[in-house]
Parts: sequence; C-alpha cells; structure tokens
Amino acid sequence: LVEVTNLAKAFSGVEVLRDIGFAVPSGSVTVLIGPSGSGKTTVLRCLNALETGDAGTVRIGDVGVDYSAKPAKRSLARLRSQSAMVFQAHNLFPHLTVLRNITEGPIVVQGRPAEEVEAEAHRLLESVGLAGKADQHPYQLSGGQQQRVGIARALALDPQLLLFDEPTSALDPELVGEVLGVMKDLAVQGRTMVVVTHEMRFAQSVSDQVLFMDGGVIVERGEPAAVLTDPREARTRTFLQRVL
Ligand code: ATP
Repeated sequence: LVEVTNLAKAFSGVEVLRDIGFAVPSGSVTVLIGPSGSGKTTVLRCLNALETGDAGTVRIGDVGVDYSAKPAKRSLARLRSQSAMVFQAHNLFPHLTVLRNITEGPIVVQGRPAEEVEAEAHRLLESVGLAGKADQHPYQLSGGQQQRVGIARALALDPQLLLFDEPTSALDPELVGEVLGVMKDLAVQGRTMVVVTHEMRFAQSVSDQVLFMDGGVIVERGEPAAVLTDPREARTRTFLQRVL
C-alpha cells in the first residue's frame, strides 16, 4: 500500500533524512524505532505531506508524489487525504465536545453529510470503548480516553493508512495499556499502520516490520523478532540496551 524511495530532507542545510526507502504492505503494521532526533517524526510527516521532502517519492495507494519535482499543493493535498495521524498529545479542540472533535474534519474538510458522519462517530466511539462520552469535553476525560478520541478522530477520516507518532509517550504509565489495546485491535482488523513508538512489547507482538533509524537513515530492518531480539548492527544493540 505504501512505498517510499530515496526520501531525503534537510532543515536549513542540515540533513535529517537520507535515502529512506521502505514499503508497507496493505494490512500490515510497521514500527519505527530509534533515538531522539533520528528522524522518525520527519518520516511520518513526509508520508502525509505535513512536511515536504527535498527528494524522493512517496506513494500511498494510487496517489504518489515525487518530492524532487516540487509537487503542486493539490498533489500534496491528495497525498495527505490518504492517511490520518494520531499525535503524541491528542490535539483535541478543548472547546468542542468529543463528538464534534471527531465529526469536524469529515464534515468541514471532506464535506460529508453531518448525519452520516455523526452516526459513524458514535460507532467509532463505541469501538474505542468510549460509548456514552460523545457529549463530554476533552478536559472531562483521562489522558488515555483523550488519546482514544484522537484515534477515533483519525478513523473518522476513513484513511487508507494510519500514522501514529509516539501515541502513548505523554500518558501516565497506567493509561498506556488501554491505548495500545485499541491500536492492537486496529491491527487485528487489518488496518495498515506506521507507528513511531518506544513500546518494544507492542512492536514485538503487533508489528510485521521494524525499522531502526539513527542519524537520518534506516540502519536496520526486518521482522520484529530479528531486529528486537537478535539485531545485526551494533547501533541497534546499543539503542535496545538503553530502552529495554
Ligand atoms: P523524537 O523521538 O525526539 O521525536 P525523531 O526521531 O522523531 O525524534 P525528528 O523529530 O524527525 O526526530 O527530528 C529529526 C531532526 O530534525 C532533529 O535533529 C530535529 O531537531 C530536526 N528537525 C525536525 N523538525 C524540524 C524543523 N521544523 N526545523 C528544523 N529542524 C527540525
């Protein structure tokens, strides 16, 4: 479903991504790991055109952009519509109800009929274990509940690809499990996902592919059992010793 080739990106002359290439088959989960500043977030942002690469191609489904060719805004918007991102902090609108946080994008951005979107939002809330919370405001929810609303909001956009940027790292430890549980359900349902996380147990048990990044390149990749328990590269071993 996803194919990235030769992706490169620099910020004010400093190279932060170099020759990034990987594929994500439909219905599979790819986990990106690596030290702070290695470029994981920038990869996610280039996948959905929140950031434009300097070179390289990104294809999601039947929409592709070639960043070397300076794609037009319209092409970037089409690429963006293929995926939805769940952020580290949930970024919910504090003044809107849970329901409106979920329905705003589909109604305002996608122009879909309100009734249909609201019915779907109630179904999504139920699927993330938050039936009955539709009329509450974000501050009335726990951090884990807020993050699950963030996931429901991403799902409401009906994206082909879900992107997660450290979705549990801002949560109290006891709330991490409920969010990972929802993400695991999504994986079991066959959602295609790219996840930046430090949760190695999640990577081990849910992902199909782990990419280890360091210094803007993919240093090592493979099945989680291989990369996480028997890494070939010294840099991967050093990183894993620090986080495990
Ligand atoms: P973390 O785990 O800390 O989020 P990361 O692996 O996701 O790290 P990125 O956020 O992708 O890393 O950052 C990669 C490098 O690019 C870092 O050195 C960062 O300082 C730099 N960087 C990211 N965004 C920008 C920006 N908008 N302007 C300038 N530099 C940036």
